[in-house]
Amino acid sequence: MSDNVRDVIIIGSGCSGLTAAIYAARANLKPLVIDGHEPGGQLGITTLVENFPGFPDGIQGPELIENMRQQAARFGAEYASGHVVSVTLRPKSDTMGKQPIEVNLGRETLLSRTLIIASGASARWLGLPSEQALIGHGVSSCATCDGFFFSGKEIAVIGGGDSAMEEALFLTRFATKVTLIHRRSEFRASKIMLERAHKHERIEFLTDTVVDEVLDVSKKEVTGLRLRNVKSGKEWELPVSAMFLGIGHTPNAGFVGDQLKRDGDGYLVPEAYVCSSAPGVFISGDVADRHYRQAVTAAGTGCMAALEVEKYLEEIGK
Ligand code: NAP
Repeated sequence: MSDNVRDVIIIGSGCSGLTAAIYAARANLKPLVIDGHEPGGQLGITTLVENFPGFPDGIQGPELIENMRQQAARFGAEYASGHVVSVTLRPKSDTMGKQPIEVNLGRETLLSRTLIIASGASARWLGLPSEQALIGHGVSSCATCDGFFFSGKEIAVIGGGDSAMEEALFLTRFATKVTLIHRRSEFRASKIMLERAHKHERIEFLTDTVVDEVLDVSKKEVTGLRLRNVKSGKEWELPVSAMFLGIGHTPNAGFVGDQLKRDGDGYLVPEAYVCSSAPGVFISGDVADRHYRQAVTAAGTGCMAALEVEKYLEEIGK
């Protein structure tokens, strides 16, 4: 293979991709990390992280991610911004890695002996036309990015998991009132987060309730939500100035097409641990994890993927 073939390309710069980069860089593999459209991944847009080991007082997500970035760069990791349009993986039969893996960024195609897919998962939307029309005009999936714009206003948060609780709690810094709207009366959120939200005087819970329409598209701003109780069928309007989504995530694996196994929701399914069915291709972090989805588990599988890369390169004699 020619010199323009890298030893390893890592797709994604969240904590999984960056942990892989730290390990690969320390193994002298000069990894190239492709940032994608959400550099830093989900930690980059979160607030206080209290459960990443080693930080007894917690650490801000963006600070944690910047530390990892610098740590990998210190050992020789390189970064490129770009959106991966598609990849061309090796056929299963090419176990000795004769054919390079192609990573198509649209403007250019990069070649590599190995690939780590750590492209994470992105925030989900309800899919209502009115919601889509008002993104950036009061509809947001990032409380830390946009909460400040709604200081002194009433805000709605949608969802019943930890993300929704975290967003609701964070938004009380700005909002006079936060209404948390959930489609069921049971919650996926952890007990501690649910309790914190329940106890907060400015958070009100609306359960068994769904959003039918975000108002008001004609005014190009959020003025309220048309809600419906799924049990009673009752419909009403709730005046709010913003709606924040906290309803989970969709894996960013579209660029793989059908070259690797994916489950019904599009998550990549590794063959064993972080190994895929394609020679030299490894998978880590939330793009393959619908269950744990923690910073520390994403970092852990990133480490595993980089160790597998080292082993594979040794096997093919590189
Ligand atoms: P999640 O646990 O999957 O919860 C998603 C929530 O959104 C569920 O309540 C779900 O309702 C609701 N939902 C999904 N699609 C919906 C739709 N179309 N319309 C209305 N509601 C919808 O996702 P998450 O909250 O993002 O958490 C993911 C993982 O990250 C979890 O393991 C969580 O513990 C972790 N996390 C941890 C923290 C923290 O510790 N600080 C913060 C954030 C996330 P149903 O319950 O009815 O399905």
